[in-house]
Amino acid sequence: MSRTTRIDVEGVSVSPDHYIGGRRVASARTFEDRSPLDWTLKIGDFARGDALTAEAAVSAAAEAFPGWAASGVSGRAACMYRLADLIDARAPDLARLECLDMAMLRESLELRVIPRGARNFRAYADLAREYEGRTWRSNRTANAIHRMPAGPTVIVTPWNAPFMLSTWKCAPALAAGNTVVLKPAEWSPLSASVLADLADEAGFPPGVFNVVQGVGEEVGAALVSDPRVRRISFTGSPEAARRIGAAAARNIVPFTAELGGKSPFIVFADADLDAAARKAAGQYDDAGQVCLAGTRLLVEASVRDTFLERMLACTDEHVLGDSREPETTISPLIHPDHLARVHGFVERSRAAGDRVLRGGRIAREGGLWYEPTLIEPRSNESEIVQNEVFGPVLTLQTFSDEAQAVALANGTRYGLSGIVYTGDAARAGRIGRAVRAGTVWVNCFLIRDLTAPFGGCGISGIGREGGDYALDFHSDLKTLQILEGSIA
Ligand code: NAD
Repeated sequence: MSRTTRIDVEGVSVSPDHYIGGRRVASARTFEDRSPLDWTLKIGDFARGDALTAEAAVSAAAEAFPGWAASGVSGRAACMYRLADLIDARAPDLARLECLDMAMLRESLELRVIPRGARNFRAYADLAREYEGRTWRSNRTANAIHRMPAGPTVIVTPWNAPFMLSTWKCAPALAAGNTVVLKPAEWSPLSASVLADLADEAGFPPGVFNVVQGVGEEVGAALVSDPRVRRISFTGSPEAARRIGAAAARNIVPFTAELGGKSPFIVFADADLDAAARKAAGQYDDAGQVCLAGTRLLVEASVRDTFLERMLACTDEHVLGDSREPETTISPLIHPDHLARVHGFVERSRAAGDRVLRGGRIAREGGLWYEPTLIEPRSNESEIVQNEVFGPVLTLQTFSDEAQAVALANGTRYGLSGIVYTGDAARAGRIGRAVRAGTVWVNCFLIRDLTAPFGGCGISGIGREGGDYALDFHSDLKTLQILEGSIA
């Protein structure tokens, strides 16, 4: 069903429909998108894709694939650079929309998050162009490694940081020569729709980049089950990853999954305690809806009280408010269901005998804000320690030596990241190596080089993205071996 209807969102014209084969396509059914800043505010009714939508989108991606693959890295890079420039030019609009849609702080969106989306496209266009493969001689043959584009690729993203994550995942797939069907989360569909408009304007050929809106278990499940899809790149919860992974296994399709976290934030007595306390209180930023957040504070027992006092003082500086206002540091949660889920974790924790040291309540009647909350659990086995809450809820535990710190740090099924505060370089190395996680930060947090591998251990994920790791994932690597002396 073709449709040209567009909606006005904060002065920006946005299509609520799918973008398939270079055209806007509607669905008979729709789903409502509302703003967490004011839940009474309906942003619009978005197309709710189904199995037929998925079939159309994968067909478009499959048709476009041979041409895009043959266009070579320079041809693909030209489109990607143009798209990056368009994202930069539209950063204020994108920041306004993303802020309205999922309540991330607007200033941070405009200054850091949206520009990072543009950088993702530039960085992968550069990286793909720089790739020279590898050549060497062995066993009387000349060996060469080539990257072959893999095919139509399905990318499924979560509701938190949707624009940054969509660009982070689509850029390497497109640079590698794959065509893409992006399925954003149903709680924050806006920015993916604008990305489709910008890709269109940047001159991506029809079918190279497609966006399908809708519910995960419906159109999402149909997309990942299509046997023509040759790569699946997913970011979201372990629960959905299990279902998507099963579909990938049926079709023998490589699959990466960037999943949840329950990351340790380890503070040794020899650390700069002021810096550690400030960064620990910073784990409440974005209302804790950050997969990498260090939500388990593990503090050396001898400095527990000093650290706690300073960390709570920093927590008091947080301002819960409208994400559009520059003084706000804690935004509302994404959805009433998510607010209920976060509060449910805290209520169960309290009922089970864990000590709520700070917060633990819904902050405003009728709003989606949750108080920054700190809980001292009874044991490492408490549910609040073992499961991802994905809200402004931290736990505080103590340790007496390095061995106990590492045992606690590695004492969940997750392994996405770790944060260590220490003033001792040798200890930083020891703990950095011992913590089982995809990324460990020492005396800092969230600083990332786009060429570094990114992913998780345990139930935090499968595979690595970032830099060449993502380009390799989106390619079929081929070894070409030619017998020496066999060709004149
Ligand atoms: P989710 O797993 O519920 O949904 C993620 C996406 O998957 C959505 O687009 C959803 O529609 C889709 N989906 C759900 N079931 C599906 C199915 N059966 N087939 C195909 N698609 C399906 O996650 P969420 O609630 O949107 O996001 C929060 C989670 O994402 C948290 O666990 C968070 O830690 C994680 N996350 C991880 C990273 C990372 O890089 N590791 C980054 C951001 C968020």
